[in-house]
Amino acid sequence: MKIVVQKFGGTSLATPEMRCKVAEKIINAKRGGFKPVVVVSAIGRKGDPYATDTLIDINSQICRDIHPREMDLLMVCGEIISAVVLANTLKARGYEARAFTGGQAGIITDTNFTQAEILEIKPDRILESIKDGRIPVVAGFQGITEQGDFTTLGRGGSDVTAVALGEALSAYAVEIFTDVDGVMTADPKIVPNASVLSHVSYLDVLELADKGAKVIHPRAIEYAIRAKIPVFIKNTSNSTPGTVISFENERSFGPKNIISTQVVTGVAHITGRIQVTIYQDDPIINNRILALLADNHISIDIINIFPDKMIFTIDEGKKERASQIIKEYNCKFSIIENCSKISVVGSKMRGVPGVMSAIVRALTRNNIQILQTADSHTTISCLVKGEDTAKAVIALHQEFELYKKNK
Ligand code: ADP
Ligand code: ASP
Ligand code: MG
Repeated sequence: MKIVVQKFGGTSLATPEMRCKVAEKIINAKRGGFKPVVVVSAIGRKGDPYATDTLIDINSQICRDIHPREMDLLMVCGEIISAVVLANTLKARGYEARAFTGGQAGIITDTNFTQAEILEIKPDRILESIKDGRIPVVAGFQGITEQGDFTTLGRGGSDVTAVALGEALSAYAVEIFTDVDGVMTADPKIVPNASVLSHVSYLDVLELADKGAKVIHPRAIEYAIRAKIPVFIKNTSNSTPGTVISFENERSFGPKNIISTQVVTGVAHITGRIQVTIYQDDPIINNRILALLADNHISIDIINIFPDKMIFTIDEGKKERASQIIKEYNCKFSIIENCSKISVVGSKMRGVPGVMSAIVRALTRNNIQILQTADSHTTISCLVKGEDTAKAVIALHQEFELYKKNK
């Protein structure tokens, strides 16, 4: 049985016209001899009645401290509505379909509400539905605990549902349908001449996603690597080939003759960071502060430790709690708010000299101040002021001539 998992994001489902295009993609897969298993996100974006952000907003108007269990119970509704609506759209076109919640699809998670991990998938009901000739339409982004509580998998988690189901069903491939033509060399909302990557390795896309490229959830890629499943990113609104994500040397799924020689694959960015500097020369106190931040689930990155100070970045939402912790130790500290982390990603940059120098050249030429840097074998990140975000992404995209990729 040749199963293909097809996941459709919120904007792909936003209107009846869009849902017809979605139905076409599913019917085409069926006509091509595949057994489609469909995964859906909540309909629309912030402001639309059943979008995840709208559901969160409804609640925050009532009370701020909603328990994560209740938060999940509220958020899962968006995807459940979407699954029923799409199953009925297929039925209206003469195709038998059946909607499932994540739990009904057999997705069992831990109890870490709002950020749950999938423990196992029992796909019996999905397989039964396929055997009965009904297209399964599964509510993404959710699962159920062993006790029967609904959970969600973290924002953007429908991608995770799709690949996890792909693994559990030994699917031939996972297709992620969205509102762009594939994985691009930068966010096209910021860089209008960003190019579509016809093929990108798991490692590069994992790094891009981890550094802010929202087009796919990083955990979905981790699952795809584990299951060795190729993932396609495609546009719901057209029939362009999109991007195939697989191992670096495995191009058989995508267009053949295109092997990029460039060292940099793309530029990603994350906004809403703050930079914290603690003026403190006692390493024991520094260690205690870091431990307490971790105990409070405050994740830090781009950290530099000097003899007389320690500098790191955190999410702006954690500012109040982090400040309280640092004050407990009577340390002098300062904060630069509204920063962005811009990352240049490319697994082929390993050992290639000159990448950092090109980054610094491009940013300084554009009068962009670098507040901090971090690097690994595959990525160089720079912290810049929030107001410089677009300018920095465009400058780096231009510097590495990423607009020429795959052309
Ligand atoms: P969906 O609702 O379909 O899951 P998302 O909004 O989560 O869609 O992800 C798609 C968006 O990701 C695009 O509209 C685009 O603005 C953004 N994006 C950021 N970086 C990239 C990139 N490198 N390539 C493609 N899209 C990107
Ligand atoms: N609807 C959820 C979100 O907005 C999950 C998803 O879209 O993947 O985060
Ligand atoms: Mg998404």
